[in-house]
Amino acid sequence: MQDYNQLLLIWLYFQTVVAWAKAIFTDYTKFMKGLDWGILYNKYHNNTYDPVKFASEVKRLIADKDVTKNSGIYEYLLSGDEKFLQIRAFDDDQKMEAYVRQNGICPKCGEHFEFDEMQGDHITPWSKCGKTISENCQMLCADCNRRKSNA
Ligand SMILES: [Zn+2]
Repeated sequence: MQDYNQLLLIWLYFQTVVAWAKAIFTDYTKFMKGLDWGILYNKYHNNTYDPVKFASEVKRLIADKDVTKNSGIYEYLLSGDEKFLQIRAFDDDQKMEAYVRQNGICPKCGEHFEFDEMQGDHITPWSKCGKTISENCQMLCADCNRRKSNA
């Protein structure tokens, strides 16, 4: 009976996890496959979410070319943490274009730096609809970039 009860508990837990996931994310996508929904359930099931908003957010994020990890969309929506989306970084061409435009000057501290001492930064953050395009790239020195990310 012990084994049977244990199996029953696991089955009930599994049903709970699936019911929770289906209630929050009403539209199934292939990116939901392979995620550890048990872990997501354990971490986030006490929060309240809006499934209608999530349905439109999932569509918008899948279409966003700067989101490089579509399977991270779900934990991003549950946690609000952008790191799960692996937002596209600026490539070297975009960074060099910004570097030349700024004459190698960091716009935050006004100091001059070599190209490889600087880092590409979104002028308008991705979260405020800023795209990963040259026009939205500025080069910051490592110190200023760290300060900006921690702000
Ligand atoms: Zn600086």
